[in-house]
Amino acid sequence: MDTQRLILTADDNAQIRMLVKAALRSLGHELVEAVDGEQAVELAFERTPDLVLLDVTMPKLDGWEVLHFLRHRPETASVPVMMLTTAAQKVDLEHGASLGCNDYLTKPFSPGDLRTHVERMLAE
Ligand SMILES: [Mg+2]
Repeated sequence: MDTQRLILTADDNAQIRMLVKAALRSLGHELVEAVDGEQAVELAFERTPDLVLLDVTMPKLDGWEVLHFLRHRPETASVPVMMLTTAAQKVDLEHGASLGCNDYLTKPFSPGDLRTHVERMLAE
């Protein structure tokens, strides 16, 4: 296995956080969780994760606002970010990329889908 990485996942839905945790457990990375956008920004600035998984609709700051904060701070400007969207929020890749997101996954996603995306992003 590669060296352990730090993954930050932010979602206000406890079930999704559990699902993400369960899906990624076998990869052996450290996972930190945020329950809203504000906490996501705080944790990202504090820990400088190797990868960030962002829910779009969250209290305090939404995922796009979090992404904006990350991209405007040198330490987190180039951290890979994947948005977890619902079908209704599905962004086209070009629009998402212009806002600085590297990848996105539409909910509901399978644990295998999530692992595939995460492994690919960490390998880049
Ligand atoms: Mg949400």
